[in-house]
Amino acid sequence: MNIQMVDLKGQYEKIKREIDSEIQNVIDSTAFINGPKVQEFANNLSKYLDGINVVPCANGTDALQIALMALGLQPGDEVIVPVHTYVATAEVIALLQLEPVFVDVHPIYFTIDVNQIENIITSNTKVIVPVHLYGQCADMESIMKIAKKYNLFVVEDTAQAIGADYSFSNGAKQKAGTIGDIGTTSFFPSKNLGCYGDGGAMFVKDNDLAKKCKMIANHGQSIKYHHDIIGCNSRLDTIQAAVLNVKLKYLDNYCEARQDAAKIYDELLKDISKIEIPQVANYTNHVYHQYTLLLADSINRNELQDYLKENGIPSMIYYPVPLHNQKAYIKTDGESFPVTEKLSESVLSLPIHTEITREEQEFIVSSIITFLSKQ
Ligand SMILES: *Cc1c(COP(=O)(O)O)cnc(C)c1O
Repeated sequence: MNIQMVDLKGQYEKIKREIDSEIQNVIDSTAFINGPKVQEFANNLSKYLDGINVVPCANGTDALQIALMALGLQPGDEVIVPVHTYVATAEVIALLQLEPVFVDVHPIYFTIDVNQIENIITSNTKVIVPVHLYGQCADMESIMKIAKKYNLFVVEDTAQAIGADYSFSNGAKQKAGTIGDIGTTSFFPSKNLGCYGDGGAMFVKDNDLAKKCKMIANHGQSIKYHHDIIGCNSRLDTIQAAVLNVKLKYLDNYCEARQDAAKIYDELLKDISKIEIPQVANYTNHVYHQYTLLLADSINRNELQDYLKENGIPSMIYYPVPLHNQKAYIKTDGESFPVTEKLSESVLSLPIHTEITREEQEFIVSSIITFLSKQ
């Protein structure tokens, strides 16, 4: 068995003919920058996301940065962000001389704890950036209520949850990333919709705001050589757009394959008392960018990881150092975030991807059980 965290090769083999021919077409056309495939993909993704404006860009970090640049914020304005997330979410806030204000996450769902948001809102708070971590949505209905009450923008970091569905209490459903003012995503190869290099996009409800995002991503111009605002250079390569245009057709299948694999893990792991399987909130489904376990304190995570590794099983920790303990983000007031601190010591993500087999999953779980029985 050759178990991988993500099997990009196996996934590629199944769509090789389509992908190869689309890439070859771009090369033949030499339209490497802003070729027609970029707009075609943006249109198709827009359709998939119920018609929202899609603005492609170079990667998911840029998408977050451009989104924040488009909101007309001032240096020192505060942006609320979960402390248990990938660094990019906080990094762009600090980079723009805005103030990242961390909030702890929900102990079971691992997304931003909505009950702690109002406590930290000040007159400088301008934005909330929920992260749909591991593949399930944050509690968007509560977040949108708070945003409305305090007149805040909402930027959804959807890098790990493209394709997930959020359910409102009235039964209405909406795609992750299309609920707030701007949704951002990443097409990093291992993401649920990944290209063969870097890529990203913004989902923008308001047409004028979408235009602004598009301008910022293109040096602040909408007419060539007329730079109305300060922007940056952030483009989705045409070759990447061509790859994504093929893979978008399979996104729902990919989500289902991950959900099927998660179901198998759930079944195999649910009776192990020292391990908590992922829990899904009732307002969202889960597209399992990660399948993340919560280990009891009595399990030595390092030893478990080593044991799995000896058996050819990779595993990962997302994330081992909480943002507030990262050198770049440490503040002197010594804030503490107990849930995130605990998660950083007790989460473990198992291999999950579109190609994983039941046989591989049974081997992974039996290896975990063997390890625990030796304890
Ligand atoms: C991957 C990721 C990003 C960054 O995306 P890049 O394309 O690597 O820049 C941002 N936020 C989250 C939550 C991510 O998982």
